[in-house]
Amino acid sequence: MAAQNYRTIPGQKTGSVLYTADSFYYCVNKPENDTLYLQCHISTCNAKATIRENVLTHTPWTHHSHDPEIYFEAERELINRIKHRVVTENGSWREIYNDEIRR
Ligand SMILES: [Zn+2]
Repeated sequence: MAAQNYRTIPGQKTGSVLYTADSFYYCVNKPENDTLYLQCHISTCNAKATIRENVLTHTPWTHHSHDPEIYFEAERELINRIKHRVVTENGSWREIYNDEIRR
């Protein structure tokens, strides 16, 4: 079997998974036999991909309507950190946001 060429990260919904390769992010459209059919996680984008035998392949006749999301995971971490601090600290959302942005 070929080396796995993608990673998985937790999706926004509990228990959901995003599949990522080359800074594009996909969710499962449907599993079928030995193939996972994926679609871009951006709802307005029609790009598709498949995972078969550990290899994610972008479906060549579909195209992303956007650039690779190179900051997607960093942004999500930042947002999660801010959300956590807003709940656990006394500072205002704006103070905490400004503090995180300065780092
Ligand atoms: Zn896309």
